[in-house]
Amino acid sequence: SKDTGKNRLTLFDESMQQEISRHSEIIEILRHAIENNEIYLVYQPQYDLALERIIGFEALMRIKNPTLGNLSPTEFIPIAEESGMINDLGSWALKEACRFNKHLQNNGFPFCTVAVNISTIQLNQKGFVTLVVDILKETGLSPQYLELEITESAIASSIRDAVSILEELQSIGIRISLDDFGTGYSSLNYLTQMPINTLKIDKAFIDKINLNKKDNYVAEAIISLAHNLEVKVVAEGVEDSNQLNLLKEKNCDLIQGYLYSKPLEPDDLIHIL
Ligand code: C2E
Ligand code: CA
Ligand code: CA
Ligand code: CA
Repeated sequence: SKDTGKNRLTLFDESMQQEISRHSEIIEILRHAIENNEIYLVYQPQYDLALERIIGFEALMRIKNPTLGNLSPTEFIPIAEESGMINDLGSWALKEACRFNKHLQNNGFPFCTVAVNISTIQLNQKGFVTLVVDILKETGLSPQYLELEITESAIASSIRDAVSILEELQSIGIRISLDDFGTGYSSLNYLTQMPINTLKIDKAFIDKINLNKKDNYVAEAIISLAHNLEVKVVAEGVEDSNQLNLLKEKNCDLIQGYLYSKPLEPDDLIHIL
């Protein structure tokens, strides 16, 4: 009847209204996250299967707000990107990650690489290379201990621009990692054209390991292709020992996932280094 239709419309309006207000609340939180100390980084270890030790860790952004509690980056990063605030938040994260890694090195911990996620918007911002160089200077971290994680979307907009920016970063000694490999349209294409040091096999592939023999062949093929291109392979989201065993057998270089460790707060990372 007409009545039910009207009620549905009201419900729809309300849930949409709630979404809009959460969205604008998050924008407000992001705007002040740095000055309010509501933003911080956690670090997930990357374990080297041949060396049998941690050789790096990925910095992952977190926001804790008194009213909304813990926000997931899967929710706030897209909002930061569309509102343009990702540049400021991303610079903050880059500097904090470099500062923390240098701090570890200064305190006698084994030298590790810190991997920082770089949004396409950041990579394409004017003066990005200078920004990175300045942060390295300011924090004193050597470029070889910094890895920038980029995704295919960084490349898709303009492959020539991306190549020249990434080559410039590599020439300084910074490492480049291709994140979420296998989820996009033209991964294989980018793999041969992009100056990268590391390839991260997306969790979606790792999840399928041992469920289906064909998927194991895909994982194996990605690893050997990467090795032929002299690129290191990180398996993302490794959760069980069956996956680990197959990855070991196929000569995957590094694993990152809950099986080894969840992302850790700085003090907890220090304890396992
Ligand atoms: P990502 O770069 O692919 O990061 C890996 C995500 O997988 C992280 O989620 C990590 O906690 C999660 N993960 C790792 N191992 C496992 C596992 O074994 N099982 C499961 N279920 N999950 C695992 P997180 O921290 O929620 O980050 C989500 C995404 O948000 C990241 O995906 C990245 O795209 C984005 N992000 C996080 N921090 C930053 C940042 O500082 N800058 C930018 N631009 N993006 C960020
Ligand atoms: Ca990443
Ligand atoms: Ca990833
Ligand atoms: Ca991802």
